[in-house]
Amino acid sequence: MNLLIMGKPGAGKGTLASILQDNYHITHISTGNIFREEIAKRSPLGLAVENFITKGELVPDELTNQIVKSVLSEGDFPNGFMLDGYPRTKDQAMALDLILAELNMPLNFVVDIEVEDDVLLQRITGRRVCSQCNTIYHITLHPSTKIDVCDVCGGELIQREDDKEESVKNRIRIYNQKTEPLLDYYRQKGLVVTLDGRFKREDVFEFVEMKLGVTHGNN
Ligand code: AMP
Repeated sequence: MNLLIMGKPGAGKGTLASILQDNYHITHISTGNIFREEIAKRSPLGLAVENFITKGELVPDELTNQIVKSVLSEGDFPNGFMLDGYPRTKDQAMALDLILAELNMPLNFVVDIEVEDDVLLQRITGRRVCSQCNTIYHITLHPSTKIDVCDVCGGELIQREDDKEESVKNRIRIYNQKTEPLLDYYRQKGLVVTLDGRFKREDVFEFVEMKLGVTHGNN
């Protein structure tokens, strides 16, 4: 099954994707994670995108499209893929249509995670991410057992530079302007299903069964 996961920053795209990956073995492709890994490696791509990301701006479409094209062309997705955080602009949506047509990998659903704006800021500014394995925590809602240490791999938990308040506000503004209109585009194709952003782990299994029509999984 091939999915897009859409929703404002802090809606829970990464959390949903990790539940789907663990239980349904759908491959998680996050452009944000790819960029952050490149920044950590100090690669040419990482250096080219770092400034955009720190400020909460979008990385230019051409660069982002190239990366997604190479990941989708080179990867192997026995149970399908989920794109998390891509596309974010009309230009990216058009590019994705071409890439998927060329690779003969049609989309099955676009999952739109809905959350009220005022909840987002609190969620994101309390978010901490493992610097090694990308597991997501929250200082009050989902803390790690040992402060600032990942339960999964022992890596250090950090606050993403773009999870600071100024940058978050910018990201929400950009989402409203550039990304939200894409939902209409996918609605016209009949692909959009919505998930309430207050979901808990068990709600995901019901959602997958009822809305995506999949019954297997290791829940
Ligand atoms: P995310 O983890 O999806 O919130 O992405 C973090 C940051 O990476 C975003 O705020 C952008 O700066 C950049 N980014 C991720 N995906 C895209 C995309 N599809 N287009 C442009 N920039 C992106």
